[in-house]
Amino acid sequence: MDDVAIIGAGLTGLTAGFRLTGAGYRVVVYERHPEPGGLVRTFDAGGEPLEQYYHHLFTTDESYVALARELGLADSIEWLPSRMGIWSGGRLWDFGTPLSLLRFQPLPWSGKLRFALSTLALQRAQDPAPFEDVTAREWLLEHQGEAAWRTIWAPLLQQKFGEKAGEIAMVWLWRKISLRGRSRNRSGMGERLGYMHGSFERLVRRLSAGIASGGGEVLVDTPVLRIEKESDGPFTVETKGGARPFRSVLVTVPLEEHLRIAGHLLPEAEHRAAAACVSTAALCTVLELDRPFMPYYWLNIADPGFPFGGLIEHTNYIEPRRYGGRRILYVSNYLFRDDPLYGASPEEVLDRYLPSLRRINPAFDPSWILGVHHFRAPSAQPVVVPGYRHTIPPLRSAVPNLYLACMAQIYPEDRGQNYAVVSGENAAAAIAADLG
Ligand SMILES: Cc1cc2nc3c(=O)[nH]c(=O)nc-3n(C[C@H](O)[C@H](O)[C@H](O)COP(=O)(O)OP(=O)(O)OC[C@H]3O[C@@H](n4cnc5c(N)ncnc54)[C@H](O)[C@@H]3O)c2cc1C
Repeated sequence: MDDVAIIGAGLTGLTAGFRLTGAGYRVVVYERHPEPGGLVRTFDAGGEPLEQYYHHLFTTDESYVALARELGLADSIEWLPSRMGIWSGGRLWDFGTPLSLLRFQPLPWSGKLRFALSTLALQRAQDPAPFEDVTAREWLLEHQGEAAWRTIWAPLLQQKFGEKAGEIAMVWLWRKISLRGRSRNRSGMGERLGYMHGSFERLVRRLSAGIASGGGEVLVDTPVLRIEKESDGPFTVETKGGARPFRSVLVTVPLEEHLRIAGHLLPEAEHRAAAACVSTAALCTVLELDRPFMPYYWLNIADPGFPFGGLIEHTNYIEPRRYGGRRILYVSNYLFRDDPLYGASPEEVLDRYLPSLRRINPAFDPSWILGVHHFRAPSAQPVVVPGYRHTIPPLRSAVPNLYLACMAQIYPEDRGQNYAVVSGENAAAAIAADLG
């Protein structure tokens, strides 16, 4: 009998599989898609692999960089400057630097001062406790005032959480701000973001190869249908091809899928906790263009009238030469799955987006588009509300030898590749300790 079944070959599952095979355990990783990688899967853009969802690293992503070093890929991470903007009050503004704040007219002077002082204090704060049981809305209205909330924070939170923007816990925003501040200071040269030459898929491939060379298996195109367990017997993992017994099971898929395949095994409290954690979905449209669209790498949209939340022009950060000269523009949209746009056809989505793209760049014409790709992720961003820490499902289930490591458990940091690595490593350590 094999030792460990890992459900999901995203970064969490692959990292856990790599560590466990490295420690001598017999591991099988099951992946529903034809390729491993999960949210860092790629597609071909002008001859170069490119992430379906825009990705970069911060200098604080130490665990990811350490793993990349171990796999001989640290030198492939390029730390490059990036330019950030915001669409507010019907025009583009630079954003994210002290000078840009001074020039940002939508926020009055009194608002600027409160925004700057409080952001500095948030960057320096070490203890999550004061931010855990209060919404970002309440905290920011008290410490930064109505203007900063209305002009900057509410639109930014709406981008990610839609109608739940007002319910998000301050701890989520605080951790993002403090890590971003540390990441900026650390490079000493303003903001530098990390990208892996040849795409982050390279690390995925190295992990998969490491699992195979350690005697493990990564079974792609093999969705797990159900996990079963006889009282004192082993687990059985059921797929279309049959069932296989395992001593332990690590689930790394989104919570809803976890409940679908293993929910019947869980005690009621654990089931309820997992069902209470909600995520937004992501709809990501990638346009390959024959010319540049805007001057920024990252543009936040602070206008609730727009049908999308952000634009990321990847080739304002990574040279377009790699993509055959094509400019890559991601149109980012976090939304709930019952939003009609999430289920709309690619043509309908693009039709909805075109007028807003034209507002940002009035010269923009659909004839610039050389290729369009649409990607949908049903669970993309956990919705972190006050008291969230009490509802996080545990790594070790009450069912012996059943483990869970997924995005919803990452706290207080926002989810990201770095934390997927941490989570995979923690899960592997726990399983190894329990198996002996
Ligand atoms: C729009 C977007 C932008 C992002 N940008 C960044 C960024 O800039 N920097 C950064 O570091 N991170 C970023 N992230 C986050 C990062 O991609 C994730 O944190 C990380 O990839 C999560 O890995 P995971 O393995 O936990 O989950 P996933 O990648 O979701 O992996 C889960 C895997 O399980 C598989 N699966 C599901 N059900 C089954 C089943 N029944 N049987 C078998 N397999 C199954 C799925 O196909 C998937 O491959 C972004 C995410 C999104 C959505």
